[in-house]
Amino acid sequence: MRPNLKGEGKQLAQEIIELRRWFHQFPEVSGEEFETSKKIQQKLDEYQIPYTTGYAGTGVLGVIEGGSPGKTVAIRADMDALPITEEANLSFASKIEGKMHACGHDAHVAMLLGAARLLSDVKDQLHGKVLFVFQPSEEITPNGGAGPMMDDQVFAEHTPDVIFAQHVWPDLPVGQIGVRPGPMMGASDRFKVEIEGAGGHASMPHQTVDAIIVANTVINNLQTIVSRNVNPVDATVLTIGRIEGGYRYNVVADKVTFEGTIRTFKNETKQMVKDRFFSIVHGVTESMGAKATIEYYDGYPATVNDEKWAQRVKNTAIELLGIDSTPIIEPCLGGEDFSRFLLKYPGAYFWLGTAVPGVEKQKPLHDPKFMLNEEAIPLGMELMAQTAVDTLYDLQAEENSSHAKPLLKKVANYK
Ligand code: ZN
Repeated sequence: MRPNLKGEGKQLAQEIIELRRWFHQFPEVSGEEFETSKKIQQKLDEYQIPYTTGYAGTGVLGVIEGGSPGKTVAIRADMDALPITEEANLSFASKIEGKMHACGHDAHVAMLLGAARLLSDVKDQLHGKVLFVFQPSEEITPNGGAGPMMDDQVFAEHTPDVIFAQHVWPDLPVGQIGVRPGPMMGASDRFKVEIEGAGGHASMPHQTVDAIIVANTVINNLQTIVSRNVNPVDATVLTIGRIEGGYRYNVVADKVTFEGTIRTFKNETKQMVKDRFFSIVHGVTESMGAKATIEYYDGYPATVNDEKWAQRVKNTAIELLGIDSTPIIEPCLGGEDFSRFLLKYPGAYFWLGTAVPGVEKQKPLHDPKFMLNEEAIPLGMELMAQTAVDTLYDLQAEENSSHAKPLLKKVANYK
């Protein structure tokens, strides 16, 4: 029988909230999650869940094997804090000067441990495996810990068929979930361009290659990427935020530097915009007799949910939290390292409502006064655990029906 974990988070809530407060008091920034990692391992030992360590430094992989063989579902939590001095005035505020869990990763880790505990109680009833992925260094874009964990073979022995992650979300009330098919979070790239012409006297432009005129032409042409090359319903931004060049009113500038950012919601759009960016910068510059040097930094890719697995999260949320628990949401242009897992494995990323009641304007993630509503913690644990259970059942059902297919074909041939 399919385990139903509705309400099961309650009995664990106190323990997991205390655990979250411990992580909150001892925040560790990207790449330094040593005590966090130790605490995770201690808890997994206590819950008798086997694990392996050493992925991307402090990463941990817990594994629960079900009573019968089957597919594999992974759930991921990020572990790192931020170099921010906490101003939230909590009884369990950060004890480490200049460091703070201002993005709720303390709650992510605690809830994933809670979900692991809930699932270990029902493991005999599961077909397949559940992986618990504790990921370091989410906050250091563009090099986050997801890629290095996979490089360190985190999934060599157990390969996920589907992967999920959740993020606390101050703009949704407790009891609501934000999930949608397609883009959830954006890609954010950064660039710097240096145009090199040839300087000279303002009165003799024919002896120069005016870097200001070249830069001006390049920038105007770059604006045609979003307006002429990108589908107008596919939100994209290309902004030049800084420009610098020239010496004085009567000197033709030999050099201009400009910097900016490209934001996209689809990985194929990002690639197309990046390709157009390079060909316009080089093409225009060359055609005007100047030279361009481009520094381009790929940020996290867009976080794009599979339709099927976003729907799975939605259905599970409705069963656990009610019909009104999944409002229609717009994607967010913030970056998220989970995108790297989603490029390799199908799955979905969702937001867990954690708004603090009685506050008119919620403090956003990464704010020194950021707070989350701990009433969401048992719900987040249940949702993670139940989504894993339901997904294993979905995969099992798919497997059964795919075995049935050849039979159906044969029947069809008799027509
Ligand atoms: Zn975060």
